[in-house]
Amino acid sequence: MKWSKLFIQTLRENPQDAEIDSHRLLVRAGLVRKVAGGLYAYLPLGMRVLEKIRRIVREEMDAAGAQEIVTPVLQPAELWRTTGRWDTMGPNMFKLRDRAEHEFALGPTAEEVFTDIAKSLVSSYRQLPLTIYQIQWKFRDETRPRFGLMRSKEFLMKDAYSFDTDADGADRSYWNMYHAYERVFARCGLKAVPVQADGGDMGDSMTHEFHVLADAGEDGIAFCEGCGYAANLEKAERGTGEQGTGNGERGTGNAPFEEVPTPGAKTIDQVAAFMDLPASAFVKSLVYAADGKPVMVCVDGDRDVNEVKLRRFLGAKKVELADFETVLRVTGANAGFVGPVKPADASLRIVCDIALKGAAGRIAGANKDGFHLKNVDLSRDAKIAGADCADLTVVKDGDICAKCGRPMTIKRGIEVGQVFKLGTKYTAAFNAVYKNDKLEEHVMIMGCYGIGVSRTLQAVIEQSHDKDGIVWPASVAPYQVVVENLDPDNAEATKVADAMEAELESAGIDVIVDDRAERPGVKFKDADLIGFPVRVVVGAKGLANGGVEIKRRSEDKSKTRIVPPGGAVATVKEML
Ligand code: ATP
Ligand code: MG
Repeated sequence: MKWSKLFIQTLRENPQDAEIDSHRLLVRAGLVRKVAGGLYAYLPLGMRVLEKIRRIVREEMDAAGAQEIVTPVLQPAELWRTTGRWDTMGPNMFKLRDRAEHEFALGPTAEEVFTDIAKSLVSSYRQLPLTIYQIQWKFRDETRPRFGLMRSKEFLMKDAYSFDTDADGADRSYWNMYHAYERVFARCGLKAVPVQADGGDMGDSMTHEFHVLADAGEDGIAFCEGCGYAANLEKAERGTGEQGTGNGERGTGNAPFEEVPTPGAKTIDQVAAFMDLPASAFVKSLVYAADGKPVMVCVDGDRDVNEVKLRRFLGAKKVELADFETVLRVTGANAGFVGPVKPADASLRIVCDIALKGAAGRIAGANKDGFHLKNVDLSRDAKIAGADCADLTVVKDGDICAKCGRPMTIKRGIEVGQVFKLGTKYTAAFNAVYKNDKLEEHVMIMGCYGIGVSRTLQAVIEQSHDKDGIVWPASVAPYQVVVENLDPDNAEATKVADAMEAELESAGIDVIVDDRAERPGVKFKDADLIGFPVRVVVGAKGLANGGVEIKRRSEDKSKTRIVPPGGAVATVKEML
């Protein structure tokens, strides 16, 4: 390919809406072009990368025994109504009607469609296990589309679905996909770590997310170096040993609690500043509605409630902060001044984080606007049932691991894929059954497995770039080699560059020849920005001295090799 023919424009300026490096580079290197918020066109270079990732995904899925199909983007509402998700998916789902007023969704995922297909085509245990997949565009009306392809409204996803006769089979299908994912990401040159995640509606069912660690990641992940435990923060548990019970003030003495005026100071930070005490000296009290029923949740002043853990602990379908009328009614005060000591409604259930067990000498809201209480001893002053103390907060850096007791660290991650044991949630709703060898009917057991193909593309950039641009791994680079012809008007240089192009191409190596009449500085800058793994420089001067210059994008100038033109292709092959 000749650069002069390529449909591309690199940009010197960063796009204004780009908050993270990979988004800036994606646009500046001319891989994609924004059409509207959360919607992108893939330009030729972006297409090439997307296709390479898609190919890797496809090869690994096929090698794992999964079979490719493709289902429509437009999905009929009936299928979603069968599982109840037409209503529960909420505003994230794009819904529309055809001219006959039939309702459809632009598929955000495809459990319903695949389950329906499996139900209609599978009848006997002899057809199982079965894993089918597609690589198809998905649509989600994200609250905040951002970060380029990372969180877009339309994105390419590989979604696979497994169907098994029993739990052991479902387990095998799960780990089969899990290991295929490890291979997919490794082949894309990505370090993606599997971490445990919360099963959401699926209760305690098993699920792992694959994360690319990056400061720009939207998800927090807790890691234990001691035992290898890794879980996203929604799920991460912490140890409850003495040293793991938080870093709040234990407090001593048995002075009675006492009211102190804290006018206008509502947030923990404001009261802490007002009283000149650390946040950890406080009890943070929040009133939640758990399936509509009020419950007060108390945690250390410097900790955050983990609503996923809270929901699980309460066995509720939904937990959300209570509205202000409820807060006032059950506590007697407005948010900011509520606390666990003598709320207005004496029957209000109070649950507290394990770190607060036995805490004394604390400051808490007085359930009276403008006041707090000091010297609060939770076991003495508050009505909290023993069983209502549990791990309810988000793990923090340094919290001890629930498995091995060593300290955990928190890192940021980008979720590029997820594997999920679904059990019979969808197959039961569809009555997707098979007949066993005794001709008895049983519901199939299912798993689902997603990879964000377009998000993966950008995650590679986020993980592999420097100040000058992208540093593509050879496996997914738009072209593996750029041949910089510095003197396109010179017959000798052009002959060498073109011969190299032909030879590399016939060896199955993607190459682009920069034949533009631009200054070398401009050409090198563009090559570094786009990030071709290997750069070959061909110029009249170099050739007169008997050589071309070859270097890897990841290496600095000092590593440049000077090779006679005849040996260049062999050197490039070896470097790739
Ligand atoms: P997230 O938590 O980031 O919103 P998710 O858990 O809702 O993602 P899944 O339903 O697990 O996403 O979808 C499978 C994969 O699709 C994700 O692992 C991710 O890589 C990708 N993905 C999900 N939403 C988007 C999006 N809005 N833009 C790009 N890729 C996405
Ligand atoms: Mg997910």
